[in-house]
Amino acid sequence: MDLGLAGKTALVSAASRGLGRASAFSLAREGVDVTIVARRSGPLEETAADIRAETGVGVTAVTADITGVEGRAKALASCPQPDILVTNTGGPPHVSDFRRLGRDDWTDLLDAYLVAPVLLIQATLDGMIERRFGRIVNITSIVVKMPAGSLELSAGPRAGFTGFVAGLARQVVRHNVTINNLLPGSLDTDRVRENMEVRARDAGCTIEEMYARRAALAPAGRIADPAEFGDTCAFLCGAQAGYITGHNLLLDGGRYPGMF
Ligand code: NAP
Repeated sequence: MDLGLAGKTALVSAASRGLGRASAFSLAREGVDVTIVARRSGPLEETAADIRAETGVGVTAVTADITGVEGRAKALASCPQPDILVTNTGGPPHVSDFRRLGRDDWTDLLDAYLVAPVLLIQATLDGMIERRFGRIVNITSIVVKMPAGSLELSAGPRAGFTGFVAGLARQVVRHNVTINNLLPGSLDTDRVRENMEVRARDAGCTIEEMYARRAALAPAGRIADPAEFGDTCAFLCGAQAGYITGHNLLLDGGRYPGMF
């Protein structure tokens, strides 16, 4: 299917690795010029070169921390009026007990999972409305729908952000601007691999055993390829998806056990 995106522009934050990278790649394959953001320039430039080499679209790499005021300003200066915005950031820190967190830690979590995506949307939404085309996809997490491990650190701020999106999505869809959240379950990214290594060490098992346990959590019986996530993101950004808004779409292989 031609998603009708050739010539559009996208700002994809946290995109040198993992789900952000996969989303930028899938959009680029549809002919979208992408601006990708991450803190470390080495992996970011590598990803930019890979996307350029495979797709031939315009790729701008911005080295910046998207959770900070200056980093966001830098990213937005490079791509002030994208047609597509994919908000994303790194995963929460591994903390065994929330009692160890102080106020500054909580402020950081709120910045990452609530304030940063809200301010990116705020900066880009009106241009989308004026041009009568906009697609915003927020990468959140399965923890918004169900408790999972020790990920309550991101669940609180993300739940608040989900509430914000639910209201805003209904206000702007009449302008052909959609806002949806994608909720990953288990996708085989660097973060998940690093996570599995730590857990395998703690549990005294091999990383393969830890992967098998994680895969068994979902009825699909596997951990998914980030490319599956990227292509879903691109589909939600497609011209045909203008009637899909305000959703919290799980990519979890059926792990979430509820009916709705
Ligand atoms: P990942 O493999 O660690 O990739 C994270 C990417 O974000 C990297 O490119 C990283 O590059 C960049 N990044 C991190 N913090 C940043 C910041 N402050 N500013 C700019 N860029 C930043 O992670 P992932 O697995 O793709 O996860 C992406 C998001 O999905 C996370 O929020 C994670 O919690 C959520 N999630 C993922 C899964 C999964 O199965 N993979 C499941 C549930 C939720 P730099 O380090 O160079 O900045």
